[in-house]
Amino acid sequence: MTELAYLADMSAAYVWSFRARIVALPPGGVVLDRTYFYPAGGGQPADHGSLRVGDATVEVVDVTRSGNAVHHRIRGSGSNSRGFSSGAELDGTVDWERRHQNMRLHTAQHLLSARTFERAGLRTTKAVLRGMDATIDLEATLAPEFLPELAQDIEGVVGAARPVTIRHVPRGEWDLLPSAGRSGLVPLPPQVDPVRVVEVEGADSCPCGGTHVRSTAEIGEIRMMAPFLLPSGGTRIGLTLVRPGATVPPA
Ligand SMILES: [Zn+2]
Repeated sequence: MTELAYLADMSAAYVWSFRARIVALPPGGVVLDRTYFYPAGGGQPADHGSLRVGDATVEVVDVTRSGNAVHHRIRGSGSNSRGFSSGAELDGTVDWERRHQNMRLHTAQHLLSARTFERAGLRTTKAVLRGMDATIDLEATLAPEFLPELAQDIEGVVGAARPVTIRHVPRGEWDLLPSAGRSGLVPLPPQVDPVRVVEVEGADSCPCGGTHVRSTAEIGEIRMMAPFLLPSGGTRIGLTLVRPGATVPPA
């Protein structure tokens, strides 16, 4: 079992360098007792980076979850990975630029889903982050005249530097809360307990296991993408990161 250390609190998303112990070495991969690498999931791509034991370093090219374990898929073997053995301690380094870009994008996606629900009453059925783009699939067709308003709304929240926080709510308590005001339609798996709720002050509150920025000021400048009509009858809208915002040094 791997402890998902990046989930703990808001500051955990800013940890890019950590110590951990190897618990298994499946072919082409490394399993650790704890990790700050985000495994691909929930529409957010995996972190990349490197793992080092002594003077041996391997590159992490993908990270996936398999049951309770997180697999760090590595490039290179043989001399690169000598010293990698079960029980060995290592240094993990997350590619901070890629991680922070996904944090900015993921937080912007929450705002986009929230504002689309508020303005047009449409909920998000799927969210995908890729490169500098975040897209959301909406349950029905969105009139294109909403797009400039959505862009303005998001720019306003970014400009106001709203704090982003995390709350862990017991599942029993969460299930009792009214769900009518939620912008997302993605069902919460039954085993999720407690529910990790990501809140953008005055703008959004939603359950999420991803990594986010601690202030909306870090998102920076965004641009809306052209909408795309889905065969299902919904609309796919999205945004692109154009310019970084306020820079916050990693922990
Ligand atoms: Zn999220």
